Amino acid sequence: MTNHYNTIIIGAGHNGLVAAAYLAKQGKKVLVLERRSIIGGSVVTESFGENFTVDSIQTGGTLRPDIIKDLKLGLDTSEKNTRSTRPPFISLQPDGNHLILNEESIKRFSEKDANNWNEFVRFMDKAASILDAAYATIMPRLPKNMNLRDGYGLLELGLELRLAGRKDMLNFIRALPMSAQELVEEYFESEVVRGAIASVAIHGSTLGSMSAGTGYTLIHNWLNRGGLAHINVGKAGEITNALANLVKSFGGEIRTDAEVAKIKIENQIAKGVLLANGEEILADNILSSADPKHTLLKLVGAQDLPPEFVWHTQSIKMRGSVAKIHLQTNGNHGIPEGTLAVAPSIKYLEKAYDAAKYGEISEKPYLEVTTSGNTVSIHFQFAPYNLKNSEWKVESEKVEKLAIDTLAEYFPNLKSSIVNRKLITPKDLEEVYGLTEGDINHGQLMLDQFLFMRPIPGWSNHKTPIDNLYLCGSGVHGGGGVSGASGRNVVKVLK
Ligand SMILES: Cc1cc2nc3c(=O)[nH]c(=O)nc-3n(C[C@H](O)[C@H](O)[C@H](O)COP(=O)(O)OP(=O)(O)OC[C@H]3O[C@@H](n4cnc5c(N)ncnc54)[C@H](O)[C@@H]3O)c2cc1C
Repeated sequence: MTNHYNTIIIGAGHNGLVAAAYLAKQGKKVLVLERRSIIGGSVVTESFGENFTVDSIQTGGTLRPDIIKDLKLGLDTSEKNTRSTRPPFISLQPDGNHLILNEESIKRFSEKDANNWNEFVRFMDKAASILDAAYATIMPRLPKNMNLRDGYGLLELGLELRLAGRKDMLNFIRALPMSAQELVEEYFESEVVRGAIASVAIHGSTLGSMSAGTGYTLIHNWLNRGGLAHINVGKAGEITNALANLVKSFGGEIRTDAEVAKIKIENQIAKGVLLANGEEILADNILSSADPKHTLLKLVGAQDLPPEFVWHTQSIKMRGSVAKIHLQTNGNHGIPEGTLAVAPSIKYLEKAYDAAKYGEISEKPYLEVTTSGNTVSIHFQFAPYNLKNSEWKVESEKVEKLAIDTLAEYFPNLKSSIVNRKLITPKDLEEVYGLTEGDINHGQLMLDQFLFMRPIPGWSNHKTPIDNLYLCGSGVHGGGGVSGASGRNVVKVLK
């Protein structure tokens, strides 16, 4: 069967669906192809058994408010800004004196830190808004010549930065290359407070809170969460389901169990896709929301790309080191609602990261824990995709045990409450969820993979050396994390 579409979008994660929604709304004939049997990519709520339905990958989250408004999605746009009503961020302490990240609780650890808390939150909000403006801007293909459209986008961004105020703008630029440790030390003296905040900087990154550039990742995660605690826990799937319904309401098509095996290319022009089942589908434009390495090295292939481009693509740092453990319980786990972290100090976090540097699993891991109904979800770092002296089929049980044992130290009823469990290793993130090397952001968020260097230097405007083939997932500027920026931005550069 051969069909012809205006646009084929590879992947029904939130970015692919955002792009599809904008295009379908414009009246374009759109087809989204998803290899899994369910849509959502990492923004998915799925079932692992009866009464065992969870945000399996990304916890809750929401899209950029401007996208929600543009698309009239009916999701709450105020969520990113309302912190007072959201379940708190709690840093668990071995002595039971847990820290809740608010002025009152911080005061128990340091009066000075409590006094600095509001100024820190103000700065972080400002820094996040500057980063947000940068993510909304399509980056020019430096060092190539800029065209008028690039110049206009940068001018708009420059104005935004100017409006941010000179002091905050300079402090923002200064914060990016700093380590999270250096940044939090400027505001806080308590190790407990420092560790709690710094944990969010390394969430999803294979970096330690003493690594340069974790000032940037702290601002990035603050932007996407709208603070430190997660929002909408247990509702990740609502975002992607709302998007999928919208795509369909505009006449767009979404096919699941439809793995793209190859992008069909003739004379350096993308013409369509070949599915794993042998079906060929043609289109004027192909957008891929799969990660850049997968798209360019597997679906296109080195033979159709310039050697230097291939080298740069091969060099994208993926380095996944996250595992996820979901526990179905009888409800007596004793864990309060909120975003809970096992991150008692910066030194603890750094030691957890040390293991990853040597290809080992952290014996004392950084954990981030959320609950939804009777289910407990544990985000585990560090569990490197590339294990030095072992392999994942041997180490899986160890990670599950470490996660449960570590959390049970704080909640003794946890173990006896467990009735079912589901472990997702970095290998599963690759094999089941399509994330190369288990990298949750389709490429590490690092300053050398940032702005006009994301996904690779010189190709930051969604285009590729193949005409009519564009990238629109988290691995391009605007991503990673949940926001929809890269899915929305790509639509602006289409012919
Ligand atoms: C464990 C975990 C924790 C996270 N925590 C956070 C967090 O706290 N905060 C935050 O902001 N972000 C977090 N993220 C990251 C965030 O969820 C992702 O960056 C984002 O959701 C990616 O969206 P996407 O649409 O770009 O790509 P994806 O969601 O990866 O979607 C891409 C889709 O393409 C499909 N696909 C791939 N190859 C093919 C093919 N050949 N044919 C057809 N389909 C294909 C995949 O199956 C997938 O559905 C987390 C991610 C993970 C995995």
